[in-house]
Amino acid sequence: MSQHDVIVIGAGVVGTSVAWHLAALGASRVLVLDRLQVGAGTTAQSSGILRTHYSVPENVELARRSWQVFERFAETLQDDEASAGLVTCGYLIAAPEGDKLAPLRASLAAQQAMGIPLQILGAAEAAERLPICRFADAALIGFEPEAGFADAYLVATSFARAARRRGVKIIEGADVQQLIVEHGRVAGVETSVGRFDAPTVISVQNIWAGEIERWTGITTPVRAERHRVLALEGPLPYSFAMPVFKDLGSRGMLYCRSYGGTQMLVSEGIAGEALSAPDIEPGEISLDAVADIGEQVAARFPSFESAGLASAWTGVYDVTPDWNPVLGRLPDLPGLIVAYGFSGHGFKLSPAVGRVLAQEALGLPTDVSLAPYALERFRNGRLLSGRYGAGAVS
Ligand SMILES: Cc1cc2nc3c(=O)[nH]c(=O)nc-3n(C[C@H](O)[C@H](O)[C@H](O)COP(=O)(O)OP(=O)(O)OC[C@H]3O[C@@H](n4cnc5c(N)ncnc54)[C@H](O)[C@@H]3O)c2cc1C
Repeated sequence: MSQHDVIVIGAGVVGTSVAWHLAALGASRVLVLDRLQVGAGTTAQSSGILRTHYSVPENVELARRSWQVFERFAETLQDDEASAGLVTCGYLIAAPEGDKLAPLRASLAAQQAMGIPLQILGAAEAAERLPICRFADAALIGFEPEAGFADAYLVATSFARAARRRGVKIIEGADVQQLIVEHGRVAGVETSVGRFDAPTVISVQNIWAGEIERWTGITTPVRAERHRVLALEGPLPYSFAMPVFKDLGSRGMLYCRSYGGTQMLVSEGIAGEALSAPDIEPGEISLDAVADIGEQVAARFPSFESAGLASAWTGVYDVTPDWNPVLGRLPDLPGLIVAYGFSGHGFKLSPAVGRVLAQEALGLPTDVSLAPYALERFRNGRLLSGRYGAGAVS
């Protein structure tokens, strides 16, 4: 059967979430197409950090709704074997005196006003939670207990399995090569394994979203940016009980978390290496880059002065000009819905984004308004710029 009600292009954590939510909301004849395998795109590269801390309030709301799913993942998916690999260790964020202090103060106040559980900690209290870290210069420290990290690949494959159990068809190894437009609206897709028809197509293609522009001529402001992630082995363990830490005082706006219960996973939260074309192949990590990140880590975690590099890898972000995603319909082409440009923070939003996109596709009211995320904002200047500047904290 090549006729479907909705076709989803992309089986990453966002696409599989959309597919599951479509089925859960009662859609039938849902088809997901991916040229790779489920979760094998940028989802497999995610650091997996979950928090509601954002300086853009719309993101706080999506993250809050998503956390409720991560917390009760198997129950929500009605699949006892589903797992998000969730570690609820909390999220610490600190800023010294300087340009990040006012944005942090405003963001924490906004979160509290929205009813997010949040504590303001003194340096000694923060050190009780993360004893391997020094907080002597911190002017403000926020702690979010309902936060931590999870496994994005596991979440994508769990969404996919639960979706399949509800009748969604997922075809892997199917390369979508063209969007079919008939009488001014979407009619389906042409792929490496044949043509599939549907009145609604949802593109969740991440760094490959530029194909939409090639297929339709509609501007798609997204670029691929490569980022480095290191796993460091220090003399003292970074245990699962220790919170994720965001260091707004470091030049790279570092984030770190436990990796495997002993090592530290660390990466920078600033602009990365711009790629001329979307590509998830591993990039080079120079010794200078390792030394630079290592120096920033040691300034904050003194025992890591003697840390060893356990492993290192790269991952690619789909970055928009304001570091926030484009979500929703493209008015220029009826039947097409997009979600791209997660700019390094899409995993934590994926459950709520999947649900609102499914609602939009089915003509239902959306849980949160998609208007702020419209492509139109790049034309009318109502950008969703975060207070911290360019970087995945947004
Ligand atoms: C290094 C790194 C660290 C990150 N850390 C975090 C974090 O800590 N917290 C957080 O919230 N987020 C984080 N992110 C971001 C998050 O992981 C991503 O936003 C999220 O996984 C993206 O999911 P996706 O479904 O949009 O994309 P993808 O997983 O890339 O899926 C897109 C899919 O579309 C398919 N596709 C594209 N074009 C076509 C086509 N024409 N035909 C068929 N298939 C197609 C691809 O094959 C791919 O499988 C991180 C990302 C990276 C790279």
